[in-house]
Formats: sequence, C-alpha cells, structure tokens
Amino acid sequence: MHRLVDHSAIQTFSENHFQMEEIICERAQNKKRKVRQVQRDLSYRWPNNTVPYFVGNVTSNIKKSVRMAIEELHAWTCVRFQSVNQRYSNGDSVRIVDLGSCSSPIGRQQIGIQDVSLTKNCWGMGTAIHELMHAIGIEHTQSRSDRNRYLDILAQNIDQRDLPNFELLSPRLWANLVPYDYGSVMHYSADSFSNKDDEQTMLPKDRSFIETMGSMIPNFYDFDQINQYYQCYDNCRSTGRTANCANGGIPNPNNCQVCNCPMGYGGDLCDQRPEGCGSTLVATYRWQKQKLTVRFNRNDDQYFTFCNLWIVGPTGRTIQVIYEITSESTRKQICSFGCYEGGVEVKHLEDPRITNDRDCCLNTPLNLTTTVNPLPVILYTSGATVTYDFSYRYL
Ligand SMILES: [Zn+2]
Repeated sequence: MHRLVDHSAIQTFSENHFQMEEIICERAQNKKRKVRQVQRDLSYRWPNNTVPYFVGNVTSNIKKSVRMAIEELHAWTCVRFQSVNQRYSNGDSVRIVDLGSCSSPIGRQQIGIQDVSLTKNCWGMGTAIHELMHAIGIEHTQSRSDRNRYLDILAQNIDQRDLPNFELLSPRLWANLVPYDYGSVMHYSADSFSNKDDEQTMLPKDRSFIETMGSMIPNFYDFDQINQYYQCYDNCRSTGRTANCANGGIPNPNNCQVCNCPMGYGGDLCDQRPEGCGSTLVATYRWQKQKLTVRFNRNDDQYFTFCNLWIVGPTGRTIQVIYEITSESTRKQICSFGCYEGGVEVKHLEDPRITNDRDCCLNTPLNLTTTVNPLPVILYTSGATVTYDFSYRYL
C-alpha cells in the first residue's frame, strides 16, 4: 500500500538529532575508510564474545541508555559487555564517551581503547544499541551488497560528499547473515543525508515501509545476526534438550530451554501473547470496532512502552483489519520517518521474524487482509498517549 508522508509533520520533526549526529559519525568514519570493517575477517570480532568496556564522563540519560542496551544484548545474545577499570590494560576495550556525536568504529580495532560516542542528542536506548552493535562488528543495513534490490537511492537529494555513505559493501568481504529487514535498528531513515528539507534520499521498493526505516527498536534479526556472527547458537546445538519454538523463535543461546521470540510473540516457546500491556481480541464474522490506546510508562524512559495485542479468529480463517489514529493532532505529533515517537505494527506478513510495515502517519486508514491468525498488533510510544481506531473481523 502506498501512503504519502505528511510533510508538515515531518518538518516539525526535522530536528532528527539521531540522524544529524549520525551524519557526523559517518563522515568521521569515512575519512579513515579502509576495507577493514569486515565481517568475513573474524579478527574484528571480540575474543571470547566479550567486550571489555568502561563509561567515561556522560550524562545519566546516556548511562541509562547504555545500561538498557547492554541488558538487551545480554538477554538475546551470547555477547558480553564486561565492565572494567579505565586503566584496563589486558587487551582491547571500549570507552563510552561524549565526543559530540553518535558514533562507533565497526568491530574490534585492535588499538587498545576505542570510543563509542554518545551525546545528548542521540536518541536513547535505540541509538545506544545501534552504536554498540557497530562496536560488536555490524554495519548498516542500507550498505548491504543486496541493498539495490530493496531501495531506490535518490542521488539528486544527496550532496556529493555524502555519497560515500551509500556505497555498497563488497560481498567478497561481507556476509549477509539474515534477510534484509527495513526495520533493523541498523537501517537509516528515508531522509538521511538529505540536502533538502523534506526530501527523501532512499525509498523502499515496497513503499509501505517508508516509515519503518530508521527504526529505534532492535529487531529479531538484529540479535539473530549477532548470534550467528559470534556463533552463539553452537551452545544449544551441543546440548541435548532445546526448546521447540513456535512462530519463528530460536532457542536462546543463554538458556536453550526458552526461545528468543520475534516481536508480537512471547512465552517460553513464542506461542503466547507477550506479557504486559495488551489483550486478546476475538474476531467475529461481523465487524467489531475498538479503540486501542498505548500510554507511556515513565519507567521506560530512554525507550518505548509497548502494548501487544492479538486478534484471534477461528482456526484457518482469514482476518481483516482497518485502522487509523483517532486524533489528527496526535497523528501529526508522532508522524516521522522511523516512527521514533511511536507507531503501530500489524504483523500480517508470512515471515514472523521480519519487521512489518510500521506506521505512524496513517494519512488514510489502512486496510489489510491476512492469513496470519492469531494476528499480532504492536503499539508503542516514547511519550505521547496514542489511540487507534481498530475495526476487525474474520472472513
Ligand atoms: Zn551507524
């Protein structure tokens, strides 16, 4: 489905600090661009899956963002960030520091101390995990060698000096371990490096993903990529009993009895609606209408509050939903490339692991029909209380 992005709202949020800071970051990196940031060359991995790190002089918000990002990485992967003294001299380490940008080199540099920079304009946990994933060794999604199958690059909106950011990684040196995911936390937004207000620099071939790109939410495949790169899954292969995961889940390398679940799925085996905010809606043959609201919880400061719903129809039946944001002013408030103020994701696509088209502008109601049943609906916000009008039925 093609939707136009509300430009007036985008303009309001043109102070996309994450993106601006990343520009600084990537320019800085380009100066020393050698083909040394390679995944196939395993010397850029951290030995024993362990990244020694220490935190320099940064704000409490940055400290919290880094702490949350490390907690996520520890929960999902076998990579460990090990807190060390700043006089650590037993090998390479990462220093979290404010150099006025959001930036990190890619992988272990073998230079002793290497910096992950986070500054006040970096966007919370989402940017912290993006930069830490660079430090672990992960490059940008839009640099992948298969990128041109998924994006149209609008070079007319990019300054010459920024074009290197759109270069492709060599498939000889870089491996693509997971499918191309527009919702990866390593993917830039549609207007990154734009030399004109409001103009896009990259368009997804499937235009319904235009707001999805620039995500601040690490997705299933982000963690899966780390687990493959660091061979975390070997741990569960060598143990006898592993969980039999549903809905695309994979046994967690830290505890093979429970699964890493794609978004929208929970429980030990990914066969439950995730715990916390949300409910299960039972679809009938007749249309039902319901207002669904997500409210920000202050405990989620520096990140999002999520609500997970399931719409359930009789086994084997197709589900149809129509949804929109109730309030026009809220719609304008949260509309942005990347949906970092909040959004909705209805997981209607066949692959339960991949990020579906996320929406935060919804200029017109979305209407979709899917055989995915139960149908996960994910609402999230970083501040605003957002209410959606949902109509649903089975066919
Ligand atoms: Zn980056």
